[in-house]
Amino acid sequence: MPAKGDCALFLDFDGTLVEIAERPEAVVVAPGLPNTLATLRDQLGGALALVSGRSIGTLDGFFGPHRFDAAGLHGVEHRLRGELAPCRPTDHPKLRALIEALPTRLPLHPGVLIEDKGCSVGLHWRLAPEYEEELTKLVQEMAAGLGSEYRLQLGKAVAEILPAHASKGGIIDYFLHQPPFAERTAVFIGDDLTDELGFATVNGRDGVSIRVGKGPTIAQRRIETPAELRRCLSEWASKGRIDVERLSPA
Ligand SMILES: [Mg+2]
Repeated sequence: MPAKGDCALFLDFDGTLVEIAERPEAVVVAPGLPNTLATLRDQLGGALALVSGRSIGTLDGFFGPHRFDAAGLHGVEHRLRGELAPCRPTDHPKLRALIEALPTRLPLHPGVLIEDKGCSVGLHWRLAPEYEEELTKLVQEMAAGLGSEYRLQLGKAVAEILPAHASKGGIIDYFLHQPPFAERTAVFIGDDLTDELGFATVNGRDGVSIRVGKGPTIAQRRIETPAELRRCLSEWASKGRIDVERLSPA
């Protein structure tokens, strides 16, 4: 059982720390969560990072005034020990051209949302589920049209195009080679397809993988809802100990 002080804690954001909302900007961070995470980070000697498809700037907006170490855009950008390794949209002219042209290529429906993240783009259809098949096919074609430097990442009512080198598994592995994350037992908690790549990394390093919510997974353990995870995080922070043994097997 990982003891506090020996863990590195990696946390997805949407669907994990917060409930998914109809629109990405509408998610609500529970009062107390930022301070709970800050307490855990301090107890873990700084070894806590958010690992999200969101940009780090967006995560900061949700967690201010705290600025947690983080991997944004599935690892395209990261902040480690407070130092930002940003993505540069100017490095991605082909992707930028595609994003600029997107509004003319998508089905005209107010529920189809474009989330421009600079070095990646997400198309959301939570408000227009009837477009799932059409949009998935379209985004697949667009990603393929960009060539091997880019890839498709499917998620819950979202499809994203991002630089091919980026994955949550890759960035977690990178963090685990850097202080203060190195030499610790990795614990990664996530809820979606993109997190399965992180679970694979953590499983391969004798860490602990935890899936929030239902669905097939390679994670070892499961927590039913973001609210239940927040309760666990509060308990871990107040006990001073990451207690994963009591969690259900996945
Ligand atoms: Mg998620």
